[in-house]
Amino acid sequence: MKPRVKIQSKKVTRKPEGEIPMLDLRAQFAAIGGEVRAALDEVLASQQFVLGPQLSALEHELAQYGGRKYGIGVASGTDALILGLRACGVKPGDEVIVPAFTFIASAGAVSALGATSVFADSDAETLNVDPASVASLLTERTAAIVAVHLYGLPANLEALGKIASRRGIPLIEDNAQALGSRYHGRPAGSFGTVSATSFYPSKNLGAYGDAGIILTDSKEIAAHLAILRNHGQTGTYVSSESGWNSRLDEMQAAVLRVKLRYMDKWIARRRVLAARYDEGLAAVPGITPLSVPAGREHTYYLYTVRVADEGTRPGARRDGLRESLAKQGIGSGVYYPVPLHLQPVYACLDGKVGALPVAEQAAHEVLSLPIYPEMTLEQVDRVIYAVAETLRR
Ligand SMILES: *Cc1c(COP(=O)(O)O)cnc(C)c1O
Repeated sequence: MKPRVKIQSKKVTRKPEGEIPMLDLRAQFAAIGGEVRAALDEVLASQQFVLGPQLSALEHELAQYGGRKYGIGVASGTDALILGLRACGVKPGDEVIVPAFTFIASAGAVSALGATSVFADSDAETLNVDPASVASLLTERTAAIVAVHLYGLPANLEALGKIASRRGIPLIEDNAQALGSRYHGRPAGSFGTVSATSFYPSKNLGAYGDAGIILTDSKEIAAHLAILRNHGQTGTYVSSESGWNSRLDEMQAAVLRVKLRYMDKWIARRRVLAARYDEGLAAVPGITPLSVPAGREHTYYLYTVRVADEGTRPGARRDGLRESLAKQGIGSGVYYPVPLHLQPVYACLDGKVGALPVAEQAAHEVLSLPIYPEMTLEQVDRVIYAVAETLRR
């Protein structure tokens, strides 16, 4: 038997040993801080903060990384979606098909343009949008389809692309969670008419504040976006249409350029950690990892499993597991607890409980576990052990 350890020290404020957060950006900064500071010093010395050389270089580097011709940096991932949809011709009164199971911004961008989101159900295996559901929602008012690559796994781009091109409407990729992911060898974000990426700090490529980018192969759309993000100006203090101010500043661009050099290494590490989770959790009753269909390369922005419901209150088992993990100093998250058709803000669209059953069940069952490149395999094992022990009770 283990000897009982008597705690005599009064230092009870110390964190329990081995706390594992969902994400540890301080560990990342400890590794790259020197390079980041040098890059920021360069910007400070130049005193050029908006629409300068760092942004031009970043736009070029990211277009190349994302397999596209043009990149247009903007102030956030949400702005990338709004401006991207607008450049694709979405206007007030249009309908845009959006997955119900995603972050609110995917639909918020549609609302911001005065268009209406029409919510599609999820595919039960991956929780990405179900192309059959998308096809069933097409009307003569449908102006675009938004695909979200949830958690870092590309959606079914082949099927969605076919639906869009058969209708002659644009596919817009919300690539906020999947920069670096691939679909049959090609980068996620290189399929739609435009793709929108977010550099929110927690994303796999995160800025030190808000930032985003739109990628496209269309020279016309790229030129239009460069105007839209800068007050609609086509000449010096001459505006040809109403735009607004949405620019990715030089400090953020400099940070992102440093971090982009580490992206592939970080993604490779996330995959190692995810494989360890897959292996360890496969034998845990009540836990179902999400499937990764053949041909899709996941980048694990989030490592998410489903915790099977057991009657009583929907989501009770998942929430209980979350609480137990928290007590053991292990972070976890629910992305997302309320599908968009049931969000209070969209009550006006008359979404009903039961209308999108796969998305609704997912909202009760999903749980994301800690994953970040600096995490160790021992830490992953500790999480697996804690999950297994809790569910065995
Ligand atoms: C993060 C995110 C966004 C929004 O990006 P911001 O940079 O925070 O505006 C949009 N869609 C999805 C799926 C996201 O995860």
